[in-house]
Amino acid sequence: MHELSICQSMLDIVERTMNQHPGAKLKTIRLDIGKGSTIEPILLTDAFAIITEGGPFAGVELEINSIPIGGSCRACGKSFTYQELALGCPECGSTDIVIESGMELDIRELEIDEPEGDTEKGREEE
Ligand SMILES: [Zn+2]
Repeated sequence: MHELSICQSMLDIVERTMNQHPGAKLKTIRLDIGKGSTIEPILLTDAFAIITEGGPFAGVELEINSIPIGGSCRACGKSFTYQELALGCPECGSTDIVIESGMELDIRELEIDEPEGDTEKGREEE
């Protein structure tokens, strides 16, 4: 279950960010995970619960946003999205394709409660 080590390195980044906000309380971690990455969101959620249990991040919510796989075909020039990783172009069947999105694992946003009571977010909400 490589989700455990992925989760651990994600939490290292989160911890560094939280160190810049002393006294703040982390509420939610929002992740973008591409459907083409090898990460199972359910396993990542389980790993997160195991790692954070009893620690400073216990009870923090993990929100996972699945990113569809997007690519284009060099043979026919079409762009497309997949729900699962595929090896060929859905239009012409060529394997000469470029995958442009859907492989990512990004921390999109951290929702933090500042000690003064005002809420600051890691990034603007869209
Ligand atoms: Zn094609």
